[in-house]
Amino acid sequence: MEQKNGLVIKSTGSRYTVLSDDGTIMICRIRGKIRLQGIKSTNPVSVGDRVVFDADESGEGVISEIKERKNYIIRKATNLSKESHIIAANVDQAVLIVTINYPMTSRVFVDRFIAASEAYGIPVTLVFNKTDRYDAKHMQILNEWRELYEGIGYKTMAVSAKKQEDLSEFQNLLKDKITVLSGHSGVGKSTLINRVEPSLNLKTAEISSIHHSGKHTTTFAEMHALSFGGYIIDTPGIRGFGLIHIEREELYHYFKELFEFAKDCRFNNCSHYSEPGCSVKKAVEEGHIALSRYESYLSILLDKNEKYR
Ligand code: GDP
Ligand code: ZN
Repeated sequence: MEQKNGLVIKSTGSRYTVLSDDGTIMICRIRGKIRLQGIKSTNPVSVGDRVVFDADESGEGVISEIKERKNYIIRKATNLSKESHIIAANVDQAVLIVTINYPMTSRVFVDRFIAASEAYGIPVTLVFNKTDRYDAKHMQILNEWRELYEGIGYKTMAVSAKKQEDLSEFQNLLKDKITVLSGHSGVGKSTLINRVEPSLNLKTAEISSIHHSGKHTTTFAEMHALSFGGYIIDTPGIRGFGLIHIEREELYHYFKELFEFAKDCRFNNCSHYSEPGCSVKKAVEEGHIALSRYESYLSILLDKNEKYR
């Protein structure tokens, strides 16, 4: 029997849609004794997985091997859902759609998303949308934010899904990559995607907050193929793209610029909150670290609801 390699583009519980490297699409299930990758989760195979499969007698595909993942986004087990759930594997980048207004995206939300992406080892880009609606004050804030995040080393862009004729920069960002797209509801995710890929008709409003509502995970997930190359991941679990897998002591590692200064703290287990001789606090006071970033760090660190391992 001929073995083939492919990419899992859709998962609906026990059945997986696999795009074979030869261009064909096959519905697959998993062979009972598949070798897993040491992660206990409700779904052994996730969208984004590269797999080896072959067709059984009935013509259905059987996945026999999952290739090693370069990364994966996981929603850890909570009291409500006992097992972890892999949201996506082999993600090339995370893109956060941000609006300065209509609605306002909070700094903590942005910084939390960036920290989570850092923890997963996934590059992140901030895309500021709705520039057509901003007055001079909003534009000034937008430019301050862009300067801040570019300064730390994150790519940013400013677009208008509504007015801007040319969204080629945004399209180029997505081209040939597996992208996890996120942002508050109403920031224009679906409008933006539909502008660059009208055939998709993406309804991002369906990306609901499974994580926060505590309901049991939907095992449905899908990657949307882009005609110009690449995939967008649209899953009900995206809001679970949180910090639940980060140790409290490790949090500052995922705030790049804090991590730089932390090397000189007096105590090597400094939490950069109340310890004397803290180089991070000193850098904030001297203006080398943006106060907003430090405040986001503290707000996540001190959040009693934050679930650390
Ligand atoms: P989503 O929840 O992130 O998918 O947001 P939608 O794409 O549904 O957009 C929410 C609302 O914002 C809709 O009424 C859009 O028409 C509007 N919208 C999206 N992008 C822009 C933009 O660039 N400028 C303006 N003025 N409105 C926008
Ligand atoms: Zn410190």
